[in-house]
Amino acid sequence: MVELSDKEQLRYSRHLILKEVGFEGQLKLKAAHIVVVGAGGLGSPALLYLAAAGIGELTLLDDDKVELSNLQRQVLYKVNHLGQDKVSAAGKVLVSLNNQIKINTVSAKLTADNAQQMFSGATLVLDCSDNFSTRYVVNRQCLALGIPLVSGAAIASEGQLMCFDFRQSQSPCYGCLFGKQPQQQTLNCSNAGVLSPLLGVIGSMQALLAVNIVLGHHCGGQFIRFDGLSLAQQQFQLTKAPECSECAGKNN
Ligand SMILES: [Zn+2]
Repeated sequence: MVELSDKEQLRYSRHLILKEVGFEGQLKLKAAHIVVVGAGGLGSPALLYLAAAGIGELTLLDDDKVELSNLQRQVLYKVNHLGQDKVSAAGKVLVSLNNQIKINTVSAKLTADNAQQMFSGATLVLDCSDNFSTRYVVNRQCLALGIPLVSGAAIASEGQLMCFDFRQSQSPCYGCLFGKQPQQQTLNCSNAGVLSPLLGVIGSMQALLAVNIVLGHHCGGQFIRFDGLSLAQQQFQLTKAPECSECAGKNN
């Protein structure tokens, strides 16, 4: 049975006094297992907040090493991490923030072959990756396992946030919004650039949505666009696309 120690009650006291969380909510956060795909610009703030908020188990996946150009936005890493595996450096930082949670690090790329093993038993998945092929693998596996997915993206000055609750039979999916998987990656942060704090906004919103889902708030089918220059935000409610090749026949 999940309980909160005296130390945990002190650590999470600002959650415990909040009616939206409280003791019961904090126990839900402690019982949750969140998988974060990508420990870069979005994954950094998302992981820091999920660890700080007391998510009981975090699994982070990334196959990159820390490079100097990452430090412009990937706030988990410091100069002394240059050349290290991202997940190993991230794991150390997260343990130093909260040693009362379990952190699993996987220095590998998510593929169609390992996705099921990585996601099995997870409460939800955060897609903080930077390429379409990973995004479609994440979408398919979350759909297959019925796990909620919070997907974030940021390029140049525009951020996007999507939430798909695959526990609901009529949930739309990533493919309903973006169509068939593109054959080629067009833009990413390396070739198009990105405004550094924009990743903090979107990654933090991913963590916030994740916490809300664990606490039991509804999130299905939201699509949010955030303009990093005007700070304007638009929110849309997505519906399942009947012609979607990703979820047709698999989710109804
Ligand atoms: Zn779909």
